[in-house]
Amino acid sequence: MLKKFLKEIIVSIAGKQAETIIDLLDGKKYINEFIIAKKLNLTINQTRNILYKISDHGLVSFIRKKDKKKGWYTYFWKLEILKCLEFLKADINKKMDQIYHQIKSRETKEFYICPKCNIEFNEENALIHNFACNECGEIMSRKDNAPVIKEYNKEIDKLRKELGFVDEELKIEREKLEKSKAREISKEEKLKKEKRKKTSEKTKRKPAKIKKKSKKSKKKKK
Ligand SMILES: [Zn+2]
Repeated sequence: MLKKFLKEIIVSIAGKQAETIIDLLDGKKYINEFIIAKKLNLTINQTRNILYKISDHGLVSFIRKKDKKKGWYTYFWKLEILKCLEFLKADINKKMDQIYHQIKSRETKEFYICPKCNIEFNEENALIHNFACNECGEIMSRKDNAPVIKEYNKEIDKLRKELGFVDEELKIEREKLEKSKAREISKEEKLKKEKRKKTSEKTKRKPAKIKKKSKKSKKKKK
């Protein structure tokens, strides 16, 4: 389900060509761009252009390695899952706002329709054309907004479900991040402790005075 949403977003950012790139990217490890290009059946430049567009939104990140013989760089790409989810959430909220706006407009304004051509007119345009269709001359009839509002509400329900799903995924990803951060910190603490232990052992073995002398003698030699 997440991949389906991500594909929609990638297509909106980088075009239809980029749709399957989601299947080739990973959220954990970096993937060689030559592998991505080969699987997409695109040149390395086309592939990079797509990935740059996506990285402009922070949805992918890269590391690069220099080929010592040829002197060029190879890029390795990774999907930024958390950023993708945040992007998705913002996108869904934006869509919902637009629909709410449409619903409000349907609830407060009159719309007219030509029964022959099915063309819709807002009140202003209907007045301009004197309530006669500008295509066929047929007299317009007032549009029943209730079914339109019902459709919009269905869309809202669908988006609300999507939002719930994205929120769940966001929670999981954020928890993962917190845990890995905590692991990093405890690792650092452990290293610090070991370092402290070693230095205290060293000072026990060597008295401070001798240490100073040896430093001075080194400087004189230079
Ligand atoms: Zn008409």
